[in-house]
Amino acid sequence: MPNTEVLAARSDGLGHAGGRLSVKSVGKSFGGATVLHDVTLDVAPGEIVALLGPSGCGKTTLLRCIAGLERIDHGSVTVEGRVVADGHAHERPERRRIGMVFQDWALFPHLSVADNVGYGLDRAARGSGRVEESLDMVGLAGLGERMPATLSGGQQQRVALARALAPRPSVLLLDEPFSNLDTGLRVQVRAEVHRLLTDLGITAMFVTHDQEEAFVLGDRVAVMHDGRLEQFGSPAELYEDPASAWIASFVGDANFVRGHAAGDRADTALGSVALTHTLSGEVDVLIRPEHLRVSPAEGNENGTVTNIEYFGHDHMIRVDLSDGTRLACRAPGWPTVSRGQAVTVDSDGSAAPAFAV
Ligand code: ATP
Repeated sequence: MPNTEVLAARSDGLGHAGGRLSVKSVGKSFGGATVLHDVTLDVAPGEIVALLGPSGCGKTTLLRCIAGLERIDHGSVTVEGRVVADGHAHERPERRRIGMVFQDWALFPHLSVADNVGYGLDRAARGSGRVEESLDMVGLAGLGERMPATLSGGQQQRVALARALAPRPSVLLLDEPFSNLDTGLRVQVRAEVHRLLTDLGITAMFVTHDQEEAFVLGDRVAVMHDGRLEQFGSPAELYEDPASAWIASFVGDANFVRGHAAGDRADTALGSVALTHTLSGEVDVLIRPEHLRVSPAEGNENGTVTNIEYFGHDHMIRVDLSDGTRLACRAPGWPTVSRGQAVTVDSDGSAAPAFAV
């Protein structure tokens, strides 16, 4: 566990706190193929941002551009008010005050824990107790002489984190930091790392393609799609008010029900549904599974149950409406309907986002 006294000392100003990171209109191409299209985002000091998107959308490239491992074609990257890259300038990675943790958290196997942590430090910093302080910070005080292979997977990751933090970076970048861990360890390690980052107040940006991970760890989530930043907001904003139907489907289970909008309501197969934004004409109304209610039909059925998935804390009822629309409806506790049963599905009355068709 992290040493809270060291953490407290650091957040009292004896150590470092996170700096602001600004990315402005950054573009990047490889051999004529544009991988980043004018990406702009601003990360506040101490904020943790998740960079979320499907494989190949440019997440790692953006991280590498920020770190200085790739040159940007245009735009700028600013760390704590200092431009570290723009269309002309390209500061070397080691001068940017940016720490980086890679997917495999790779340690040098032939170096001791202390030598791994001290690897990127100059002689003065190594002699000033920075290595011990960094190990203390991640809860590994006294393990400096050990070799990496003698530590557990979780401990090795904390050594990698100590190594990234030892030069006191303003911003920490993490590329898919938990993807190599199996489920149980992943949840534990990410909770530990999250606590450490928030206690330290460090500015962090991490790449993931896992929506749950992005929501659990990110103060804000930047969703990328085909090299573009599609939306940047809190997990609740993305879930409740997605900027596009694509985002709605990417961040959680989404039902789309075709309807005709007139102002702040739309007529659908589920009846009239309140909309979060006014619209007119043909729309797809987004209704999350937890906003649908399913009850046994009493002469007013509009669908049939095709399957029930029971999860313990809740269950998902799959329903086909008579017009062919397939719905997923989440309900708490035990199912009160069964497969093949005729049911009535309606909205719980929550206002829903809609998208013009
Ligand atoms: P993943 O989640 O699979 O890691 P990603 O969102 O991180 O994907 P990137 O690794 O940034 O995506 O890759 C984006 C696109 O840029 C891909 O089409 C990739 O093939 C291409 N690309 C990345 N690096 C290079 C390179 N050095 N040279 C040529 N193309 C590259």
